[in-house]
Amino acid sequence: MNLWLESLDAPLQHRAGITDDLDVDIAIVGGGFTGLWAAHFLRQEMPGAKIVVLEKEFVGFGASGRNGGWASALYPVAFDRLVIEVGEERARNVREVWRRSVPELGAELARHGIDAGYSYGGNITVARTKVQMKRVEAEFLAAEHAGEGAVRLSRDQVKDRINISGSVGGLFIRECARIHPAKAVRGLASAVERAGVKIYEESEVLSLRPGASSVAKKGIVKVRHLGTIRRVHATHIVEATEGFLPSINSPTRSNRSVVPVYSLMTATEPLSPEIWKEIGWSGNETLAEACHLITYAQRTADDRIAIGGRGAPYFFNSKISPEQDRDPQVHGQLRELARSWFPILRDVNFTHAWGGPLGIARDWHPTVSFDDKNGYARAGGYVGDGVTSSYVAGRTLADLLSGKKSEFTKLPWVNHQSPPWEGEPVRWLAINAGLKAMTWADREEHLSHRESLIARAMARLLGH
Ligand SMILES: Cc1cc2nc3c(=O)[nH]c(=O)nc-3n(C[C@H](O)[C@H](O)[C@H](O)COP(=O)(O)OP(=O)(O)OC[C@H]3O[C@@H](n4cnc5c(N)ncnc54)[C@H](O)[C@@H]3O)c2cc1C
Repeated sequence: MNLWLESLDAPLQHRAGITDDLDVDIAIVGGGFTGLWAAHFLRQEMPGAKIVVLEKEFVGFGASGRNGGWASALYPVAFDRLVIEVGEERARNVREVWRRSVPELGAELARHGIDAGYSYGGNITVARTKVQMKRVEAEFLAAEHAGEGAVRLSRDQVKDRINISGSVGGLFIRECARIHPAKAVRGLASAVERAGVKIYEESEVLSLRPGASSVAKKGIVKVRHLGTIRRVHATHIVEATEGFLPSINSPTRSNRSVVPVYSLMTATEPLSPEIWKEIGWSGNETLAEACHLITYAQRTADDRIAIGGRGAPYFFNSKISPEQDRDPQVHGQLRELARSWFPILRDVNFTHAWGGPLGIARDWHPTVSFDDKNGYARAGGYVGDGVTSSYVAGRTLADLLSGKKSEFTKLPWVNHQSPPWEGEPVRWLAINAGLKAMTWADREEHLSHRESLIARAMARLLGH
């Protein structure tokens, strides 16, 4: 069960599906953060445009309604690598835009009266071994190099903020906020509707074919609702389906542009004031441990601990299904991790366990692409850093489609071409080997107290 969808302010009600063929200016596929931020900013940049959002299930069904609620300034490509690829100035600019976007996103939610528990408390990465501390130090130096104000934390300074068992130190980064993701995405949907965008739910896009602006030929989106097929004719088609992308046919891009990789989460019951007195965490910082396998946690607005991590297997042929939302082994490891951070959680119930797919391109680069010859646009591939990135993507898409030149249209993700993933079964073997290797790397470090050789070898293979 997904904590976020279960703790909305109002019961989840589905919007109506599509019942007619339509002729529109902009058809957006996917009702997550990317599709809705795009709709939001397109409405501002192209006020007269007829915009529809087509969502297969309901707004927030995808990663946007299931994530860890970190609105971070993280960009999936490491700063050093970005410098090599696009030069120092552009790389710095990326970091600057993302950092600035964290408070801007909060202000935008507030402007529309969306109460999503936004709390701008920063982020702590804690080290619990000397090897992890080395990685934290490397992160600090990388942040310094990028001109960012990261702060080293001593063991006592970590403890003053969050009383994590076994901590030897950590790193604090200012630019991160905690949100309740489902309240944010559903509030955003209501805001774009109020602004005149039409959202169709239970409307599954089966295929899309862009048009040709040179002969004023509109693109066609084929949509199914209750077994009936409808056609949406659109000047612009924006694909915002992240990990779900491989399930839609389109001649404009490969179905191997991104793969869906699962991240899973679990949450405790609301914790008593006595437990919070022991743990601290009054600053609502988002929290991670400097392991190889990604972990992330937040203290929720209703006083639970929600913790997530990778490690669930990738399924053959980019399959996505509800059964993949739960993995007893990974959920068990997450509960174990939370209890090892905070032994006081020993008798506390974990009431929720869920998960969802995020999208990863072969070179780990997110993309916002737009072709003005056929009106097709796409954004995604955020590798699990999509909360703030989708906000920036919405702004970028709005400027690209409206023809406005801006700092967003100069970002290096614009029209970035990632190579396609390998075909099966190579893809299945490689991704699962990578996921397993990162789990083993953490175990290896735990046992050997030395930097993992497996992780070093994998980093070379993965190229980051
Ligand atoms: C468990 C988990 C934890 C995460 N934690 C964080 C975090 O803490 N911070 C962070 O920055 N990022 C995090 N992420 C990543 C982040 O949630 C995503 O990058 C972001 O939500 C992507 O938004 P999106 O709108 O592009 O995609 P989604 O939210 O996945 O939306 C895509 C939408 O497309 C719809 N769709 C699919 N197929 C079709 C179709 N055929 N027709 C019509 N619609 C279709 C889906 O139903 C879905 O609603 C996490 C992801 C997961 C899964």
